[in-house]
Amino acid sequence: MIKAFQSLWVLGLVVFSGAAAAELEVRHVAGPGYAIVGELGGRTYENHGLNATFGFVVTDTGVVLIDSGASKAGAALIEKAVASVTDKPVTHVINTGSQDHRWLGNGYFADKGAQVIALARTVDTQQRFASQHMEQLQTVLKTRLDGTRPFHAPAPVDGNAAVLSIGGVDLHLRWLGDAHFPGDAVVWLPAEGVLYSGDLVYVERLLGVLPWSDAAAWREAFGRMEALAPRHIVPGHGRPVGLEVARRDTGDYLDWLVVELTEASGNWEPIDDVIARLAHAPAFESLLNFAELHRGNLSRAYVQLEAQR
Ligand SMILES: [Zn+2]
Repeated sequence: MIKAFQSLWVLGLVVFSGAAAAELEVRHVAGPGYAIVGELGGRTYENHGLNATFGFVVTDTGVVLIDSGASKAGAALIEKAVASVTDKPVTHVINTGSQDHRWLGNGYFADKGAQVIALARTVDTQQRFASQHMEQLQTVLKTRLDGTRPFHAPAPVDGNAAVLSIGGVDLHLRWLGDAHFPGDAVVWLPAEGVLYSGDLVYVERLLGVLPWSDAAAWREAFGRMEALAPRHIVPGHGRPVGLEVARRDTGDYLDWLVVELTEASGNWEPIDDVIARLAHAPAFESLLNFAELHRGNLSRAYVQLEAQR
């Protein structure tokens, strides 16, 4: 099934599996880099919890997968999506984060011999959230979670950065600051100007500030990402974009949240008043999931910023 897209770098391949399908759209980004775009809404039984964007890089010696999906079954669907582009096996899996869809498919690929790679600060958060995420997924995915085991990188990378040279491609794994989850990281291909942002960037849909997110640090991390001047961004959620769209859908929202809420906090404005006053945010209301997430984002970011004062 081929879809029509407006983008210039179009390669629309949609992978279906069975009647209740997870829709994954494979797109060529640049050079050896590809994106696998999942749904923009919440996690469901039907989408296997693959409500996120993943990536892969085809090297001379095999495929480097960036983020492995939320389950064993979801990982197999991601593998199928990769196979629509290349016959090469997934030899490496890099995790950009610790939310379920970033890493709970690791075990599937590790069992096939792939090397799993992540920063130590990412693995720390994975360990902290593993049982909570498995419990939540169980209620949504039911038997589709069967066989899933939280498996993190066996030799986590210390520090904030590592350069991985795999099959002729240099991949820079970097922590730019805590964002959606503590220890979120990005994968940067300087030669191609391709940045796999993980949950640092959301486009087309509103980002989520969770209780353990850090809106102010996220904003700073976004600025460091911009300083890399990527030509192509594969976001954590949404289709591949240029920097301008990432700035509009994520950077501007973070700026707005932090600036508005810092000022309100300085004025000791009660939280209910702040939420009522800022519930309308016309610049961002067209983003998907705005109605579900925006007020909660305000509330949690306000609590975070007050605690940081
Ligand atoms: Zn995510």
